[in-house]
Amino acid sequence: MGSGCVSCGGGGGGPFSEGRELVDFVARAHGGAIKDQPIPEGGLKTKCRGCGEPFTLKTFVGKCPKCGGVHAVSPPRCTDAANIQYAGKDYKLPE
Ligand SMILES: [Zn+2]
Repeated sequence: MGSGCVSCGGGGGGPFSEGRELVDFVARAHGGAIKDQPIPEGGLKTKCRGCGEPFTLKTFVGKCPKCGGVHAVSPPRCTDAANIQYAGKDYKLPE
């Protein structure tokens, strides 16, 4: 785990932020309309960043089926599972 690269510009949230900030951004984007949208082509195969369980992220914000850890990817970056960000299982999705 790195200590937070901010070289891509600053923080404050956006489609290219990382970690919990990105998850939070996607969860709130368009009033929450994005987070439940299906990812094109059936989703992204990934592994839980928390417990290592393999699963498919099918919507832009999704939870690990095993530990409940919240993962998200922003729409402009959803073609590559490497861009999935992890917020942790204590993250509470905004309503
Ligand atoms: Zn997990």
